[in-house]
Order: sequence, then C-alpha cells, then structure tokens
Amino acid sequence: MDLTKAEIIALLADEANEQNLFKKADEIRRKNVGDEVHLRGLIEFSNICRNNCLYCGIRKDNKHACRYRMEPEEVIRTARNAADMGFKTIVMQSGEDMYYNQERMCHIISEIKKFDVAVTLSIGERSYADYKAFREAGADRYLMRIETTDKELYHRLDPQMSWQHRYECLLMIKELGYELGSGIMVGLPGQTLESIANDLLFLQELEIDMAGIGPFIPHPDTPLSKEKGETLELALRTMAVMRIMLPDINIPATTAMESLHPDGRMAALRAGANVVMPNVTEGEYRRLYELYPGKAGADEIPAHSRSMLAQKILSLGRTIGTDYGSHIRK
Ligand code: SAH
Repeated sequence: MDLTKAEIIALLADEANEQNLFKKADEIRRKNVGDEVHLRGLIEFSNICRNNCLYCGIRKDNKHACRYRMEPEEVIRTARNAADMGFKTIVMQSGEDMYYNQERMCHIISEIKKFDVAVTLSIGERSYADYKAFREAGADRYLMRIETTDKELYHRLDPQMSWQHRYECLLMIKELGYELGSGIMVGLPGQTLESIANDLLFLQELEIDMAGIGPFIPHPDTPLSKEKGETLELALRTMAVMRIMLPDINIPATTAMESLHPDGRMAALRAGANVVMPNVTEGEYRRLYELYPGKAGADEIPAHSRSMLAQKILSLGRTIGTDYGSHIRK
C-alpha cells in the first residue's frame, strides 16, 4: 500500500496508538504471507572487517574485539549441521574480510548448495565480478542494509565509505537476479522520523524482497558508546509500517530487537514479521561476533535455541515454514 511521507511520519510518531498499527501490520502479514514463520540459520563466519563504521562493534579500529575467521571447511560443516537441524536457508554473514576471495566464497557456496538449502550472503560491498561469480556458484539471496538514506548521516557514521557506492551495489545485486534484502537501523544519533520515512520510501521504491529493520544499540568500544539507543518501540513501529507498504515481502524479527527485550522477536512476529534468523554459529565464535552488546542468544547452543524458538512460535499460533521461504510477489 502506498503511504505519503506525512502519513508515514504520523504513524511512526504515534506511540499512543501503536497497538493499532501492530494489529494492522499483523493482519496484512497474515493475508499476504500467511502464518508460516521461516527460519534462516545464520552463520557469522568472520568478524574481521576492513571498514570502520562508527556504530559497529567489529569495526576495524576496535582493538578490544578478539578477531576470528572460520576456515571454509568449518563454514561448510556448520552449514551442514544447520541443514540437518531442518533449516532450509543458510545465511552467511561476516565483516568485509577479503580473505574470502571469489574462489573461496564460490567453493563454500557450491558446497553448501548440495545440502538442499537456499543460500543468502551478507558480506557487504564487493565487485560486480564477485557478485556475479557468487550468483553463478548458487547464491540465491543477498542482504545488505543501506543503514540510512540520509547521506550526510551515512557519511558521518561510515567514514571512508560512499553511500552512492553502497546503493550501486544493491542495484548490481538486483540486476544479477538475487532476491534482495536491505534495511536500516533505527535510533541512530541524529536520525529523525522524517529520515526514517525517507528510508521506507526508498526501500519500497527499490522493490526489495526482504527488509531487515533493527534498533541501533550503542557498543561500549565504539565512538558511539555514549549515544542513546534503546528504541525497540520505534523499531517495531518502523517495521510495522514497512509491512503495510510492502505487504508480501519477507520481514525478519531481528536479533537486535530480541537483545533489547527478552521477547522482542515475538513482539515483532506479532507486528508484521514472518522470518527469524537464529544464530547457528558454534562455540566461542558466537560471543565474538559482537556487533552490539548483549546480543541475544550469544551463550546458547544452536539446536537448543532452535527448539526453544520453535516452541515459542507455535505458542503464538503460527507454524514453522518447511520450504525455502522465498519472496513470492503478489
Ligand atoms: N559486512 C556486512 C554485514 C554487516 S553487520 C555488511 O556490510 O552488510 C550486519 C548489520 O548489523 C549491519 O548492516 C548493521 O545494520 C547492524 N549493526 C551493526 N552495528 C550495530 C549496532 N551497534 N546496533 C545495531 N545494529 C548494528
């Protein structure tokens, strides 16, 4: 459904009536994508990053971050375990770590594709040739948040990076036939409701297949440590408005929401979300991929957290998706 910028801002601002907004988004979700919740197994395979985003706990200059990188065979083994647990999508996320060159990434992708799963990449900005090779190796989807469409804010928070370049990457990914996921952080220092409304209009115009919307959570070892975050409610309203604007896309209940409130993801599933991306990374690595503090599930074991999550989803009267859970345009 099309909303004007003024209408979006009014919905984002209306704390008092947010339950009505959530209810409406929930109904639109049910009508368009049904009661299935799709689970994606998320592997965080490297926290080494060449970038220095001010908000991010794994930024290059954070000397307190204990760095790790899984070897390709370890990534593949983790994916096989996740597929054995029943995940039909594997999401591979990392910092921008160029150790994973085209050849290594393609090897990992083609091996994981043998497990009868959809493969999603979330590894940031790469060359057209890389995106093309990954697609040919079998990658189905790509997630890359634009983070904010306020270019001034973007360049303040992501020094050395170019908003225009990130946008062009999104266009390349789309052109190559990936399902495209993008999204934003909500509650960034200096971000206004108008700016969030612009973001939502941008994502609608880009015709994304998936929208990841999460609250900004300040990390103590970053230049934004003293900023205020904790905007779960606004993040939920933003997500609900996105559902109204793009009724049939996939929308995850994000981990950052769960990190601000023990039931944040369940609240999101009742306000427009239809996807959850549980972390299936094993052992020590789980703790070390610390984009923000208090990340939900850091101390859990993948199989255990999957069954806990499944129980909670069933208790909402929802079911667990059994297929790839691709975006189907209506
Ligand atoms: N290198 C990949 C993955 C980035 S990490 C890429 O560039 O796409 C995944 C997402 O975590 C980011 O896109 C950002 O939106 C989010 N994130 C990073 N730091 C955060 C913080 N402090 N609070 C909340 N979300 C954060």
